[in-house]
Amino acid sequence: MGILEKIYDKSPIFVQNLMVSVSGFQRNKSRYGAVYYDYLAFLRRFDNLTMKEKIEYQQKELINFIKYACDKSPFYSDLYKDINLNQIQTVDDLKKLPIIDKEMLRSNIERVNTISRKVAVEGHTGGTTGKSLVVLFTPEDMMKRMAMLDHFKSRVGFKHLKMKRATFNGKHIIPPKQITKVFWRYNAACKQMIYSSFHLTEQNMKYYVNSLNRFKPQAIDGFFMSMCDIASFIERHNIKLEFTPIAIFPTSETLTQSGRELLERVFKCKVYDQYASSEGAPFVTECKDQVLHMELASGVFEHFEEGNDEVLVTSFTTHGTPLIRYRIGDAMKFDCFNAKCSCGLEKPIVKEIQGRKLDFLYTADGAKVNGGNVANLFKNMPNALIRAQTVQEKMDEIRIYLEIDQDRYKKEYDELLKDEFKHKFGEKTNVIIEHVDEISREKSGKFRMIINCVES
Ligand SMILES: [Zn+2]
Repeated sequence: MGILEKIYDKSPIFVQNLMVSVSGFQRNKSRYGAVYYDYLAFLRRFDNLTMKEKIEYQQKELINFIKYACDKSPFYSDLYKDINLNQIQTVDDLKKLPIIDKEMLRSNIERVNTISRKVAVEGHTGGTTGKSLVVLFTPEDMMKRMAMLDHFKSRVGFKHLKMKRATFNGKHIIPPKQITKVFWRYNAACKQMIYSSFHLTEQNMKYYVNSLNRFKPQAIDGFFMSMCDIASFIERHNIKLEFTPIAIFPTSETLTQSGRELLERVFKCKVYDQYASSEGAPFVTECKDQVLHMELASGVFEHFEEGNDEVLVTSFTTHGTPLIRYRIGDAMKFDCFNAKCSCGLEKPIVKEIQGRKLDFLYTADGAKVNGGNVANLFKNMPNALIRAQTVQEKMDEIRIYLEIDQDRYKKEYDELLKDEFKHKFGEKTNVIIEHVDEISREKSGKFRMIINCVES
């Protein structure tokens, strides 16, 4: 632990708020500089271009980016040494280039990188996939990524840095020995109240809700499951909210339909999803009508192969650790390229983003059941479940941990749930249900509904 953390942990809360804000102002310098504002203005203009103009821009960027990677990255210049790069003029031509995967990136990372760590902004990735990886962003790319994210929010009315937001994340802001029930800190640099995801227990929940009611955020962002926990508590206890946010912007966890409906019902505003991984993938964002669109200015999405929804990404904001035809491990269903959306934005539509590859359970026969389908199995117990987690250690056995609401949970729900699982997974799967006081979170503060330990 660093000296600053030690001082932080021993300081009174108002000093901690000050320290959070000071570091927030410092971070803002690297995130919201001139490049950020220029790119934000560009993105506004870009939205108004026709599809043809957008594709032309994307192709130009693509050609430049591949040249850059080949010039600056020893890994890519080796990889492409027998390929005539002048052949690559369109997105379709990308097929002439080899695919790279996470293991290739990890084992060659020094030769992939084009900049030194000293001048880079680091991106950490890999928690759920088991491989941890540090990718490097140039400060300019980081600002562009921030602009992309804030532009997406501004389309539905949220003004970053001008409006108040509540964030649920995995930052360690609460000292381990704290006794008072204050599980949040204020970052004045972003008008942001940061709420700890680590302390969201049934006993603490009321303090969070009171704080939200006092703070009255105009948007809520961060971990999806944490927001769902809060919303479920508010609904179960019939608590009146004294604010209505403009929007909710979850990050870093796969959304479930039932969770989304819960948030919209409780907070009385829409949830807008977006996709952009910590490795630096291009963006997919939801428009005001909650349809997912590819952001053509940010890069290229391709399918891995015909009939396989897994995507390959080429991302224009990865000059530090270039990603070209990178097999990121996520899957998406694309709509036909020219499909129109009611929002009026001319951008390709993504029908569905499927969860991380590891977000699934196996049937006894080895077939995969994805996270969305697993989540659906819990929906017939309205408000009776506080949290559920499924753990698979053997191909033919699923263990379900339940944190239940004692007042609402009915005895027969265990059998009902078992039936649902048997129906989905087959009779050969042994389903074990355990009621626990609390399901533990990941080190990152995220909650995982599915833990799959079976080697694939
Ligand atoms: Zn749209």
